[in-house]
Amino acid sequence: MHYLDHNATSPIRPESLLAVSHALGIGGNPSSIHANGRAARAVMEEARERVAALAGAKPDSVIFTSGATESCSLALFGAVEGSLEAENARITRIFVSAMEHKAVLAAAHRLAERFAWVRVTVLPVTADGVIDLEALRVGLREGKGRALVAVMAANNEIGTVQPIAAVSKLAREAGALLLVDAVPAAGKIALDFSLCDYMVLSAHKMGGPQGAGALLVREGAPLAPQLVGGGQQKGLRAGTENLSGIAGFGAAAHALADGEGERARIAHLRDHFETALKQAAPEAVIFGMEQNRLCSTSGFAIPGVRAETALIGLDLDGVMMSAGSTCSSGKLSVSHVLAAMGVEEKLAACALRASFGWSSTMDDVQAAVESLQKLRERMTQTSEAA
Ligand code: PLP
Repeated sequence: MHYLDHNATSPIRPESLLAVSHALGIGGNPSSIHANGRAARAVMEEARERVAALAGAKPDSVIFTSGATESCSLALFGAVEGSLEAENARITRIFVSAMEHKAVLAAAHRLAERFAWVRVTVLPVTADGVIDLEALRVGLREGKGRALVAVMAANNEIGTVQPIAAVSKLAREAGALLLVDAVPAAGKIALDFSLCDYMVLSAHKMGGPQGAGALLVREGAPLAPQLVGGGQQKGLRAGTENLSGIAGFGAAAHALADGEGERARIAHLRDHFETALKQAAPEAVIFGMEQNRLCSTSGFAIPGVRAETALIGLDLDGVMMSAGSTCSSGKLSVSHVLAAMGVEEKLAACALRASFGWSSTMDDVQAAVESLQKLRERMTQTSEAA
């Protein structure tokens, strides 16, 4: 089998699996003061240090959650609700890039429905898949009240790296808060938490287990808890922590800490894939190709080879990828990312994503290209016969 869907979930790394299994064996609650409780807490605090280190943050900025979706909601709802008490600093405007994950977009829109004074502006992106900084600059100048800006560090569908330092500068000049969704970027590019106020991470996108994530929060940034109860994690996210998930998350983050060699290897595989794809199908389009992209991600389309047909063909050949579109109620809807980039609907319906990670091999790359080439030939024969 050839797994090229690391941006959906990266298979668990052996060191992470070991950490999960060790944590499950502790049998203690991190809040308990007895020996097993202390052992559990030690595991959790080590993971906190490792996760924080990935973004150059202090361990006490880390709040463990159930994953990135929860972290996005906690950041957005928490920031708006947390700003209610602040005189003259109520968040009234939210700027989100059009290529954010639905976890950010849906939460932002829900906020605007819930709080009448919150307005959401969706910022355009270029045809190459990079946020339009000028639109942000202009937008931040207009309107009253504090703004919150949400821009991802890199896109999960096509891998384009976003200009976070420039976004941060604009946000700081306007006194706005900045939320960075670093889910696909973590471990692939250097992350600098000092540029933002909130940062979102997810364990299963980096070789950790599913169901564990983190929100990093700058000291002093507004944050109202969304889960209340036992007061865990300084009262900001109540509930007994998912110790095994957190331990696995920490181990994955640690494995990535000196991942220079791994990144170079993944980049080599991705580049080889794209070169071979272009040789097999010269008409193939690689989205955001001219931009700085994550080493792990290739968003592409072979015109005439529809994504749903391709996924079935690839699967029959043992190759696993994602479509660059989503299928809901039997109807294929074009990816909001590609739509925001102005990609024609007909081409977007052919969009696929190959995403590479720690377990990917050259064998996977070759199998994927061979399968795509077969599909293309079949499609060409079908359209010639028609
Ligand atoms: N943000 C981005 C950019 C993602 O790619 C994803 C998952 O695909 C999420 C957020 C949500 O992550 P999780 O599955 O941990 O909730």
